[in-house]
Amino acid sequence: MSNFFKNLTWAIVTLLVIAVVFSFFYEPQKSPQNLSLSELAAKVASGDVTQIRINGNDLNIKLKDNTDAVSQKEDGVGLADTLKNFGIEPATLAKVDVAVESQSGWQFWAGILIPTLLPLIIIGVIFWLMFRQAKTGVNQAFSFGRSNLRLSTFKERITFKDVAGLKETKEELVEVVDFLKNPKKFLDLGARIPRGILLMGPPGTGKTLIARAVAGESGVPFFFISASEFVEMFVGVGASRTRDAFMTAKRASPSILFIDEIDAVGRQRGAGLGGGNDEREQTLNQILVELDGFDRDTRVIVLAATNRPDILDPALLRPGRFDRRVILDLPDINDREAILKIHSEGKPLDPKVDLRKVAVRTPGFSGADLANLMNEAAILAARRGKKVATQDELFESVEKVILGPERKSRVISLKEKEITAYHEGGHALVAASLKNADTVQKVSIISRGFAGGYTMKLPLEEEHLRTRKQFLTDLATMLGGYASEKLTFGDVTNGASNDLKQASELARKLVTKYGMSEKLGPQTFGNTEEMVFLGREISTEKNYSEKIAEEIDSEVNGLINKAHQIANKVLSSHKNVLQAIAKKLMEKETLEHEDFYAVLKPFKIKPMAV
Ligand code: ADP
Ligand code: MG
Ligand code: ZN
Repeated sequence: MSNFFKNLTWAIVTLLVIAVVFSFFYEPQKSPQNLSLSELAAKVASGDVTQIRINGNDLNIKLKDNTDAVSQKEDGVGLADTLKNFGIEPATLAKVDVAVESQSGWQFWAGILIPTLLPLIIIGVIFWLMFRQAKTGVNQAFSFGRSNLRLSTFKERITFKDVAGLKETKEELVEVVDFLKNPKKFLDLGARIPRGILLMGPPGTGKTLIARAVAGESGVPFFFISASEFVEMFVGVGASRTRDAFMTAKRASPSILFIDEIDAVGRQRGAGLGGGNDEREQTLNQILVELDGFDRDTRVIVLAATNRPDILDPALLRPGRFDRRVILDLPDINDREAILKIHSEGKPLDPKVDLRKVAVRTPGFSGADLANLMNEAAILAARRGKKVATQDELFESVEKVILGPERKSRVISLKEKEITAYHEGGHALVAASLKNADTVQKVSIISRGFAGGYTMKLPLEEEHLRTRKQFLTDLATMLGGYASEKLTFGDVTNGASNDLKQASELARKLVTKYGMSEKLGPQTFGNTEEMVFLGREISTEKNYSEKIAEEIDSEVNGLINKAHQIANKVLSSHKNVLQAIAKKLMEKETLEHEDFYAVLKPFKIKPMAV
């Protein structure tokens, strides 16, 4: 209905515009003066008339002074005769250019009809347009069952070249494309063409990107739909949309159908909190039916992506459905470098920039984070009026992406600054004085996001395994800030709360998950449901006795206390070093890796074992 009013407004506006335009072009001509026959005769006699055009009984007269006049002659009598009656000799009339015009039929009719019909026609057209729109509206309402399946017409063609890393994923997908192109090769060997491939991985790892690359590489029609589109707007259409999507893909076979974010419909049925969603279940059922309905040689491959494989209905993962699963991991250091490289295209970088160093500082970043980082660096460089982005901008963007922008403007008192300097100096010094500790990359007392200051430390090489000793070192480093505040000022602030939270969580994990408590030994406690990739815990089922619970608590307590002792020991035996670091921090606010180790150098610290 609102559409109708929109159209109506539109029509009125159009009419107004037309009216305005007309009035512009239509200058009211000065209507020619009307002469009586006697006046005309007088003018002819005085030689004022240059031209007379006869049109029926109408006389269109041009006067010497270039003005027009009109007159009428008598019916059925010639002009010469008429004027003769007024005493004009034919000889006099001969000096005037007289012509007889016969008005053509269409001119006559056009003259009458156009002024009356034109507005009607315009109104007619407008109504027609309105009705047409209204009709498509109605049709849309009836065709909601159709999927808005898009044949991939992505603006830029993306190929595997644009996707860094993800080697295994690419290999898998290349094979799939090969299936589509040369099915005979595989069918002859009795192989079944895979039907569904599920891309799983944390957000931003390039699932959508690589699917688009498949579209760019495969050379077969590629249909793209986001699962949430199956169920949008009206209930009851998800299933028929699904049917339609698969039908379209089958008709175009060999082809690829890509369902992005399939978890939107593929959740476990009947497991939803707050009641099942019928609509979603119907849609999911339809997807299952369609997948099963493929003939042995239907050359349609269904690609789907999700970052929540843990919540998918098991039926989806059964053989013959999404039986191939490809995991996209967070990029490792080499891949990160490659991704940075891809995204630095078109962004002028200082020739001295070393992307490897950026890759070192970005463990845990997804491809999307890295793309974001490069963009932030470019923005930062532009804001500083530079022509190219330098290493500084890149490093700063890393911190911005992790912690939020620097808040230099936050006013802190001198006392607070001192506390922060000793706090961060404590973290950094503990890390630098323990064996097995990660290298300190940067210490800063500029507040960022929610953090008052921060110490960035990273392992020299990427590692997947961490020893108990390393974990203990981590714990001690986490408590370094707290210990330093206590040691220096005899009091602590709430600035350490986040450190303490992290330390407590880590200590508990060591005891309950990694079997690293000496007393409780190599076993795990609690059945934790974890989201496979995100490392986020959903729920923990307590599967141990109260007695064990007490022991766990005491072990966690023991670990924390031990870590605090270590930190305290390091700091109290190097009080002068701590002072030097804090002083430098108050002066410079940020110490890069080299600056920091330069402060330590004269003290010749011998790394302690934990
Ligand atoms: P998701 O896995 O959540 O679907 P996307 O495919 O949408 O992630 O990735 C988001 C963006 O991150 C991409 O558009 C691309 O710019 C960047 N990106 C992610 N992974 C890579 C990669 N391996 N190589 C290059 N760019 C990547
Ligand atoms: Mg995506
Ligand atoms: Zn801290």
